[in-house]
Amino acid sequence: MHCPHCGNMDDKVLESRQNSSGTTIRRRRECLSCHYRYTSYERIEEKPLMVIKRDGRREPFDVQKLERGIQTSLEKRDISQNAVENLIHEVEDESMIQAGSKREISSQAIGELVLKKLYVVDPVAYVRFASVYRMFDNVSQFIQEIGKLSLPRK
Ligand SMILES: [Zn+2]
Repeated sequence: MHCPHCGNMDDKVLESRQNSSGTTIRRRRECLSCHYRYTSYERIEEKPLMVIKRDGRREPFDVQKLERGIQTSLEKRDISQNAVENLIHEVEDESMIQAGSKREISSQAIGELVLKKLYVVDPVAYVRFASVYRMFDNVSQFIQEIGKLSLPRK
């Protein structure tokens, strides 16, 4: 590192300290030329979670986009904001786990996680989400799913 005082490249580390969560290291350094003391910081750069879309393109995981999708399917349904937030956090956590060390997950896999959760929370939202995101391979599969919900008939 360049000494901020004289620009010399040689320094020695006097002390290294980690923060309590282990994500930052602070080093106290001394320039070997002018003996000026300064501090440097090291941070862990987290690799972002990437979503592989159907067309093969990758984009960073966007929790707001996920939330919009879920909110749309829950529109006019009697689900508390708290339940929605829990659902989003669970999907986010499980996506991270599924992505593993590669930090990559398909949009399809995320969609399936959402469906699994929505099915428990609200069956109508489940069908809405599934139809918007075309999670079913064909129409008969979709009808089958609706049938499982045994919606009241008029
Ligand atoms: Zn110096």
